[in-house]
Amino acid sequence: MTDGPTPAMRQYYSVKARYPDAVIFFRMGDFFETFGEDAGVVARELDITLTARGKDKNGDRMPLAGVPYHAVDGYIARLVGKGYKVVICDQVEDPKTAKGVVKREVTRVITPGTLIDSAMLGSAGAHYLMAVAPDRKDTFGLAFLDVSTGEFFVSSGSGEREYADIISETVRYRPTEVIVPESLADALPGRLEALGVTVSRYRDDAFAFDAASEHLCEQFGTATLDGYGCAGMTGGVAAAGAALRYAQETQHSPLSHISGLATRNPSGNMVLDAITLRNLEITTGIKGLADENTLLATLDVTETSMGSRTMRSLLISPLLEKEAIEKRLDAVEWLTSHALDRQALRRALGDFADIERIAGRIAYGNAGPRDLATLKESLCAIPELKSLLSGDLPALVSEALDAMSDHASVRDLVGRAIVDEPPARAVTGGMIRDGFNAKLDELRHLATSGKDWIAEFQQQERERTGIKSLKVGYNRIFGYYIEVTRPNLALVPPEYERRQTTANGERYTIPDLKEKEAMIATAEERLGALEAEIYAELVRTLAADVPDLQTTARAVGLLDVYSALAEVAARYGYSRPTIEESGRIVIRDGRHPVVERHLPVPFVPNDTDLDAAGDQITIITGANMAGKSTYMRAVALCCIMAQMGSFVPARHATVGIVDRVFTRVGAFDDLASGQSTFMVEMLELANILNNATPKSLVILDEIGRGTSTLDGCAIARAVVEFLHGKAVSGPRTLFATHFHDLVDLEGSLKRVKNFHFAVKDTGTDVVFLRKIIPGATDKSYGVHVAHLAGIPKKVTDRAMALLKEASVRENPGGPRAPRYTQMLLVDPGEGVDEENPAVRELAALNPDEMTPIEALNALCRLKRLANGDGGER
Ligand code: ATP
Repeated sequence: MTDGPTPAMRQYYSVKARYPDAVIFFRMGDFFETFGEDAGVVARELDITLTARGKDKNGDRMPLAGVPYHAVDGYIARLVGKGYKVVICDQVEDPKTAKGVVKREVTRVITPGTLIDSAMLGSAGAHYLMAVAPDRKDTFGLAFLDVSTGEFFVSSGSGEREYADIISETVRYRPTEVIVPESLADALPGRLEALGVTVSRYRDDAFAFDAASEHLCEQFGTATLDGYGCAGMTGGVAAAGAALRYAQETQHSPLSHISGLATRNPSGNMVLDAITLRNLEITTGIKGLADENTLLATLDVTETSMGSRTMRSLLISPLLEKEAIEKRLDAVEWLTSHALDRQALRRALGDFADIERIAGRIAYGNAGPRDLATLKESLCAIPELKSLLSGDLPALVSEALDAMSDHASVRDLVGRAIVDEPPARAVTGGMIRDGFNAKLDELRHLATSGKDWIAEFQQQERERTGIKSLKVGYNRIFGYYIEVTRPNLALVPPEYERRQTTANGERYTIPDLKEKEAMIATAEERLGALEAEIYAELVRTLAADVPDLQTTARAVGLLDVYSALAEVAARYGYSRPTIEESGRIVIRDGRHPVVERHLPVPFVPNDTDLDAAGDQITIITGANMAGKSTYMRAVALCCIMAQMGSFVPARHATVGIVDRVFTRVGAFDDLASGQSTFMVEMLELANILNNATPKSLVILDEIGRGTSTLDGCAIARAVVEFLHGKAVSGPRTLFATHFHDLVDLEGSLKRVKNFHFAVKDTGTDVVFLRKIIPGATDKSYGVHVAHLAGIPKKVTDRAMALLKEASVRENPGGPRAPRYTQMLLVDPGEGVDEENPAVRELAALNPDEMTPIEALNALCRLKRLANGDGGER
């Protein structure tokens, strides 16, 4: 006999053929099994024992790894979190009643971007699926969809400058998965993958504009998409259509909670590109530091998950319109000055569950009974929340309160249908309240009365036979039985039919018991089926309320953000900024909102006066560690906070609206893309020079550091001249530098001003005062900082001596070489020391063309040369 695949395995192979790139979880009894290569993945990634069973198609032993069905969600979440796609193939009929092989079907396809289950979603953050569709020449339409909440919006980006726009949008919204058309053959997918996002290729026809537009209209029940502000956004609509279709196909659901589309034109908000988001540590730390060092962590004291998601989304898209900003500031101001109201509001918000995600699960048909009970509880808190605030409320607060419905019908229905402490999942039963459905009550009665009958029967039989230890038990194979222990067997009456012998005695049945058993079993079976049916119907009914629930959820999120911003303002002493349509940025006693919270000493506040028409560029010189970077970042954060509608860490601030913030800070190696540090610096600088407008704010920290002092200083000077512009002013700029020569620019360019950080030099010690003051300095105190860092005294003493020698050698009358205020190991003014072989070798190296290994070898050679033991070995 040939043993081909079993019928179940045939089912498996056909599913695998349909989803070759996914890990298939195949339900077999109490387990979800994975086979073949999938089993290898599961064993490796989830630390599960790999076994083997049966034979595969080639007659080899089939690798196998399984997880218990009730724990499958956790395993899938981990696997999807690692970027895998998972297909759930479940049993769709009861194995007990199935004729032949149990019917199985794909019930869910889970990809990183389309997770919806609460157990799998984990954090409260948004969870976007992003779609990219090529548009007209060199532009791309982008769509972002959060399947768990129904949030859906389109945006666009240019493909120029190595896709900088698209990369920025990706970093801004951190999607978990990106879908691109199969035929998109350019470098974009690779770049997205390099950001750690799962990229899935999806069929081209899903991205066709006409089909996408029609599909979206059908979903939203509208005749056109014009009302969503996406007229002309062909790429965006194409991307949105594809995202929706992909989500529906993977979820096997119409996803009716996705009921509208928003547009977020990047030009409608302040542009914060990927580099700036990172450099200013807005949502993630710069050196992979814990997220608590970010601006988001400082501001996000929201009470709800909806608030937390909204906070993030408002922070990464500051506004550009004065009127809209003022409205938010009004809301925050009212809540700041009404401390008691604010506290009461925040306490009330603290009781709110994630209504938005529960609404998503209702639409998807996946909400558990406990979800519904939690939803009801939160909805019950709405009337109280609405009554908390009174008086002359600011417009946005009233709008948010008005947008919340009282959802009386949902509360009533769930209250009547669901028991007080329901189970998390609907599969276990016991979630529908007595009295909700007459048929269910009747079956319940039948089942319980059957059980009472059994208890009574046991008592009767004990009395009738005189066997005190007689027990009526149940198992799945034999059903109900009467158990008699060995010492009592003599007392067993003749009508008992023997069913099974055990170690301790015998098991019997009698016709009465068999009859009752059949009745109880059918009642319980029907009970389970009916309860599941009633529950599913309940969820379907609730689906009609999903759009209203989403509106309420978004209003709760906004209210939570306004009160959190007010809380932070009160807690840390922020003030309301004045917003202007001017080119000014005036800050009095400004602080860095994150640094000030983590300092062991008081933060020294500083002033800023930037004005496109006058003080356009501030050149900041000063010691290492003086506080230059912190100062410049604080100015940028102040503008971002002001334009998102937050109060700012300053005694006073006037912010002339900023359209983009650009930053070039520090040196980051981009080894992954094979670019040298200097190349990265120049690429970032090119982006700034090409895109900054007179309304932008530019922060430059030590431009030109990655190359020779001569080149670096020349580049830095040319950059300042370019940013300054001729007749018309360029962007407002803060420029920190150690190239002391740049301070001359104050004389030659009218909108340039010099500032430096005050230092108290006692001769024996140096104290950083952290205060920015007008004028320039050429002192760097690099050696002092080296000493603070723990460099051995021998080295710092020697460096001090070298520094003295160098300053004596300098010829004040002759042509000046550029002066670099940081401590240098080789003075560039002296030229290359031709006598020293190590220096000669060093001068001949071209770091931009070296691989890391070549660089390391060169370093070892230099070290040997410096030690005088010859270079080659
Ligand atoms: P370098 O030139 O070496 O890059 P820097 O001048 O940019 O240095 P920062 O990195 O801004 O210096 O600041 C150094 C440290 O000084 C910060 O880590 C912070 O702890 C502290 N500091 C900065 N500004 C202030 C301030 N205004 N008040 C108190 N402490 C400050």
